[in-house]
Amino acid sequence: MPYEYDDQNVFARILRGEIPSTPVAESEHALAFPDITPQAPEHILVIPRGPYVTFDHFCAEASDAEIVDFHRLVARVCAERGLTAADGGEGHRAIANAGRNGVQEVPHYHLHLIGGRRLGRMLQPA
Ligand code: AMP
Repeated sequence: MPYEYDDQNVFARILRGEIPSTPVAESEHALAFPDITPQAPEHILVIPRGPYVTFDHFCAEASDAEIVDFHRLVARVCAERGLTAADGGEGHRAIANAGRNGVQEVPHYHLHLIGGRRLGRMLQPA
């Protein structure tokens, strides 16, 4: 079944300016802002401006321009916020939760960029 996009989700409302956010970076097709409940010293969400529910939805249906622009913004955020692993940097973890098993809360695709401390193993036991 194709994805159905709920345009009342909190990130859609942020994109429409109905809920405040403080962007740390933006581009033609994407926006980056701090997670309201940070899990580490750095916890940035990067979202496409378009109506995509999950990472796989974005990969399947976004235009090439949107996909490139989104990932270039990810690179910019990593460089600007000390999250890159290049040049001896400390690195980060990028997480995209999807659906029930991914325990996705907000049904608008978002990439969590988390860093600023050592994060431990990737998954905890369920
Ligand atoms: P997920 O479980 O991957 O869907 O994560 C959703 C994330 O959105 C959580 O980490 C929340 O803390 C975050 N979040 C929810 N509402 C807001 C908001 N208004 N501004 C920033 N982050 C939010």
